[in-house]
This record gives sequence, C-alpha cells and structure tokens, in this order.
Amino acid sequence: MKILFLDQSGQLGGAELCLIGLAKHYGNDCLVGLFAPGPFSQQLAAQQIPVEVLAAQPLNFQKQSGTLQAMKSLGQLWPLVQRVSRLSREYDCIYANTQKALVVGAIASRLSGKPLVYHLHDIISSEHFSRFGQQVIVTLANQAALVIANSLASQSAFIAAGGRAEITEVVYNGFDLAKYSAGEMAIAPPHSLKYDRLGAGDGFVVGHFSRLSPWKGQHVLIDALQHCPPQIKIVLVGSALFGEESYVQQLHTQIERLGLGDRVQFLGFRADIPAIMSACDLIAHTSTAAEPFGRVIVEGMLCDRPVVAAAAGGAVEIVRHSQTGWLTPPGDARKLAEIITTVYEQPERAKAIAQRGQQEAQKRFDLKTINPQIDTLLSAVVA
Ligand code: UDP
Repeated sequence: MKILFLDQSGQLGGAELCLIGLAKHYGNDCLVGLFAPGPFSQQLAAQQIPVEVLAAQPLNFQKQSGTLQAMKSLGQLWPLVQRVSRLSREYDCIYANTQKALVVGAIASRLSGKPLVYHLHDIISSEHFSRFGQQVIVTLANQAALVIANSLASQSAFIAAGGRAEITEVVYNGFDLAKYSAGEMAIAPPHSLKYDRLGAGDGFVVGHFSRLSPWKGQHVLIDALQHCPPQIKIVLVGSALFGEESYVQQLHTQIERLGLGDRVQFLGFRADIPAIMSACDLIAHTSTAAEPFGRVIVEGMLCDRPVVAAAAGGAVEIVRHSQTGWLTPPGDARKLAEIITTVYEQPERAKAIAQRGQQEAQKRFDLKTINPQIDTLLSAVVA
C-alpha cells in the first residue's frame, strides 16, 4: 500500500510528530508532501522518510480566517491542488494530516479519484476555529472515506459539528517506547537546565512542554507558582511556533510582576524532550481549552514522571485522577498549586502513581500496536 501524506506545516507540532511515527512505518512506500519548508521536513529527511515541499509559498489562510480571506487564497491553492492530484495517481490514498492539507487533499481526491483519509488532530469548536472554518472542515471531511480522530473528544466534537459518525474511528497517538524508558538520559548540549531534579538539592522542578500559546496556559502554571513552596521551580520548554510572540512577552511581564524571575526558566524549543522530562519532578499540562489529545501527558507518563493535566478533552482519556496522574479544572491556578504541593510533599505516593502511569501508557500508546491499527483501517479504505 502506498500513501501520499499531506501536511501544511514546516514546524514540529504534535500532529507532525505523530505523522513521523506513522510515515516511518511505510518508509519508501509513502511520500510526505508539505506546504512549507522548515524543521519538520528536515526531521523527516533525517529519518529517511521521503519528503517533498510541494507549495511555492505557505498558504495564507488560518483557522480563524473568514470567507473573504479564504476566497483570496484560492488562486494560491489551485497550482498546489493540481500538483497533489497528479502526484496522487502513483499512490493508493491521500492522507491529510492538517486542515489545509484536508482542503487541498479533498479537491485533489475528487480530481484523481484516489480515496481521502483525514487525520483529525483538532477539536472542531468555536474556541479554535471561525464558523466558516468549522463548516469547511466538516464539509470536506465528510467526503473522506475515513476520518481518524485522535481522541473520543475530537471525534465527538466533529460529530456534534455535523461530521458523519459512520466514517470516524478513534486511534490514539503512538509512541516509540524505547525513546522514553531509558531511565535517566543525558540532556543534549548545551546543558542549559538551571534547575535539575538530580542536582537541585531540595529543589523541585515542574516541567511544562508545549508551544507558547495562550490556550496552552503557561500563564496558569506561573500563577500557580506564587501559591507553591519556594523550593518549587518551573521550566518552560517550547517556543511560539505559530507567531504568538506577544503571549511570550505577557508571560515575562507576569513573571516580573509576581517577582518569580529566579524560579522560572524558558528553554525554548527542544528536540530532547525525554531527557528533559526525566530531569523534572513533575510534568504539568495546563491547557485552558479542551486538548484534542495531549502528547506531552503521555510522554511524561512514559518517562516515569508524575503528571498533572487540565481535565478536558483528550487529557481525561489519558489520565485516571489519583491513579495514573492528577487532573485539575482547566485554568484553576489555586487547585493546580495544591496538586503541585501534594506531589512535592508526598514523593512516595507520587512515585507509585508515576509508575502506574508509565505501565498504563506503555500498554495503551505503543507505536508497535497503534501503527497496525491505522494500517488495518487504511487497507480497508484502499480495498
Ligand atoms: N515538543 C517538542 N519540543 C518542545 C516542545 C514540545 O518536541 O520544545 C513536542 C512535545 O514533546 C509533544 C508535541 O511537541 O510531542 C506537542 O504535542 P501536544 O499533543 O502536546 O500538543 P500540540 O502541539 O499538538 O497542540
């Protein structure tokens, strides 16, 4: 089976990291067609996954774009659609991994007659999309032979927005377990972790791993820090991937206002996530809107670290409260501070919960079982 994957991004977001794990499974039997150059295409090439940047320039409509902006970008779209349609004749199906890839893939699929698969990595709601954006996604996704939703939460939001239930299947993200379970790992040079679980005396490090974006809620964690014992520090890992630099500025202002400058470190985007997670005492996930899946939560569990996650969307499908991690109401800094303090004060309990979390995550999110699930679904589509 030969798959033409499409993804609009040059950046390494969760959807792109998920696609790497899947495309690797197909090797030379696939091509990943991107609409922008960047670290994602470099990463694919480094892993010997066939990749081609198909668009001359990035498409300029966004999740929140309205009808007018979408119409303006049609001229840009057409050459790309034609190219994808021509290319797809050499493949058994078109697999769209992002929304713009869905737009291009759906039209190309009409032209070439190749079946369309859409991997839904989003919660289709007004928190994330304009009304027009939601209508476009649902209408086009309904033409697909298969919609793979990354959680029950994203599946039900899709159906509530008018998506066809009978074409959707839920498949969680898979992870290469070997990358996460190697115990203490060396942090890639330059070693820039200011606070380190292994060397910080009675210090305690809470790690947050996500692009810097208002709905990822780094501000909630900073807010919580002022209510935690002074030994507790925060490491924020990730950068403003999609132009949200003003939020980064807001975070710095907030830290200064609260006098927390010596307790928060920004590390920027890192490729050595398992190593940094292993150097943290607790992994915090603080999204203020429902998380479609929440890769970082699973990664924290796989690293044998206690996790606390905001209880909405995919997060509640991953974590069992007080059993395999902790859940807090989204946006509730006081409650988050309470849980961070509990984990700090009860290391033995936290250790037992982390171990249970790791075992459960290893069972549920192993790439070795997730990839065959997707392969079976694709084989049915192609047949
Ligand atoms: N990530 C990374 N480097 C960073 C910050 C995050 O590689 O500096 C990874 C993180 O490990 C996770 C992904 O980015 O695999 C984010 O996925 P998630 O589902 O948590 O959120 P999304 O970006 O899809 O909204």
